[in-house]
Amino acid sequence: GNRTFTMLKPDAIENGHMGKIIDMIIQAGFSIKAMKLTRLTEEQAKKFYEVHAERPFYGELVEYMTSGPIVAAILEKDNAVADFRALIGATDPAEAAEGTIRKYYAESKGRNAVHGSDSDENAAIESKFHFADSEIF
Ligand code: ATP
Repeated sequence: GNRTFTMLKPDAIENGHMGKIIDMIIQAGFSIKAMKLTRLTEEQAKKFYEVHAERPFYGELVEYMTSGPIVAAILEKDNAVADFRALIGATDPAEAAEGTIRKYYAESKGRNAVHGSDSDENAAIESKFHFADSEIF
């Protein structure tokens, strides 16, 4: 697949890392097909992270993801899903490789700066969740 979906999470925006992260994404060869500054409602965050509903950190995750604005975006590149997950690095910044976005900018396993879709199917679902066809270039 050639597209993926990302969110720059509230900690990244709050800490002033938005521009640097977008620059890393562009420098890595992704082109931006859609982008917006927005804020998740509680309902949206619960739905987005539904797969984690039974996990102990779910309440905290929903609270964090609704705590401030995010940047949602659709990115295009060959092998987009896998290459973007390589660019962001492991969920826990302590385990993230050198040169990855989470290594530089994540605060913790929970507040980890950025989301990247984990499959082509989820990339399409998540993109639709945030963008109308008229907002995608
Ligand atoms: P994402 O889906 O955001 O790209 P991921 O695929 O690396 O992240 P998942 O295991 O799907 O990680 O977890 C989704 C999100 O839930 C993580 O990015 C993180 O914000 C939060 N999370 C995951 N595990 C924990 C944990 N043990 N404690 C706190 N928060 C966590």
